[in-house]
Amino acid sequence: MSAEFEAFIGLEVHCQLATESKIFCSCPTMSGRGISVSALPVNALVCEVCSGQPGALPTLNSQAVRFAIRSGLALGSEIQQSSIFSRKNYFYPDLPKGYQISQNETAICLGGFVEIEREDGSMKKVALRRIHLEEDAGKSVHEFGVTLVNLNRSGVPLVEIVGEPELRTPEEAGNYLRELHAIVTAIGVTDGNMQEGNFRCDANVSVRPKGSSVLGTRVEIKNVNSFRFVEKAIAFEIQRQIAVLASGKAVIQETRLYDSQRDHTVSMRIKEEAEDYRYFPDPDLLPLKFPVAWVQEERDRLPELPAQKRSRYQTDFGLSRADSRQMSASQAISEIFEATVSLLKGLPGGAKWVANLLSGEVSRLLQESELSLTQSPLKAQHLADLGALALSGELSSTATKKILHEVWRTGESVGALVERLGLRQQNDASELEPLVETILKEQPQATEELRSGKLKVLGFLVGMVMKRSAGRGNPELIRSLIERTLDLKKDA
Ligand code: ADP
Ligand code: MG
Ligand code: ZN
Repeated sequence: MSAEFEAFIGLEVHCQLATESKIFCSCPTMSGRGISVSALPVNALVCEVCSGQPGALPTLNSQAVRFAIRSGLALGSEIQQSSIFSRKNYFYPDLPKGYQISQNETAICLGGFVEIEREDGSMKKVALRRIHLEEDAGKSVHEFGVTLVNLNRSGVPLVEIVGEPELRTPEEAGNYLRELHAIVTAIGVTDGNMQEGNFRCDANVSVRPKGSSVLGTRVEIKNVNSFRFVEKAIAFEIQRQIAVLASGKAVIQETRLYDSQRDHTVSMRIKEEAEDYRYFPDPDLLPLKFPVAWVQEERDRLPELPAQKRSRYQTDFGLSRADSRQMSASQAISEIFEATVSLLKGLPGGAKWVANLLSGEVSRLLQESELSLTQSPLKAQHLADLGALALSGELSSTATKKILHEVWRTGESVGALVERLGLRQQNDASELEPLVETILKEQPQATEELRSGKLKVLGFLVGMVMKRSAGRGNPELIRSLIERTLDLKKDA
């Protein structure tokens, strides 16, 4: 980074809770239905409460409270028996009430931590300040030269998970976010779809001269919604601030936006003084108190957490640390991974094979298609069928990839695709022998060179036979057939 400066990073993560209805009214949220809110008709999911009509009264959604409690328990927070909803007052076109209902400091969960792996492999606990409940705002849409407002998202329940500024590098921040995402999706409180903004992050970054005892002035980078972009935005911002300080100037406290196309941050607004939102307790909502039993009930609903899952994958399936991390990165991936492994019924090499495919080709397909794993037509049965054929040598790696792509497109069964595309690997010696003989006749020169001990041409001849078999011949079998035909083993 720099010999003279050091960076501090604190993240505020907004996580959309997967309740059926909004936090203060009964409008649906479309969570967990694989429907993109942005694809729904504009302002289709609104009522007098979430569109901020005068006199409309909010009623708190108990499921949102339970999800917040569950989040706090998974993250080691202290659950508060009493907390307060306040009005955070500001004007914005997508906020028709003129205030957002948020818990701010008197939150339902205080403290807690996220444990991350440092670059040297050691573990680090990053403290949380609080987890609070709040409502989402609507969305301004800039189109046709005007700004329009879509309130479908207005009133959708969020928890904001506020971390202490204890992260020191962009990579640590990325790992913190990945771990947090893995936890909140594992416990089922959010769909966690980052493209849809279900899990988005404001990154606070400051830099100070090494040895200084106070933190530097922080800059807040707003709403970054991909792990990689958060890392890149922070990396850019650290360098920018170091350059400012190194030139003898001061960093200004401001909000900046990250432009991923140009890989830099640009100023959005300068905070001349701390914003004054004039928080005050919302008179429409009583202080939040819930039945004590809810805490134990939510504790009982906690599933295996990602950290436990990782160690189980290592001991039970022999996965590497890196693979076990990838396979527990989200609920969706660990579900399809485990379902496939169980369908493969202990086939040797099965778990490792599935992990490779999921973290390699499948993750590429996911990125390209912008689909989530649950939305894609790929199911555990497809993977298990592919794995069984690939591991027994009936499918070459090229053919496996081809079929995977077809499954992704059509959802067809692997068996049907192998037949339709004629990709089953040719393992039958009696069918390959005639091809070997033909090629050896067609290539007298190479054949002669091979006979006289030039083993280099063997690969060439195997390739020719492969080609003649339309890519389906098993290369190892072809190799041994050629050797046998020419009696090479005996001469050697
Ligand atoms: P506000 O209430 O104005 O949003 P907070 O002090 O509550 O400010 O901090 C909000 C977020 O900013 C937290 O995640 C915290 O970790 C982070 N943060 C605060 N000060 C710094 C700093 N000097 N450098 C980096 N991050 C900071
Ligand atoms: Mg803030
Ligand atoms: Zn509503």
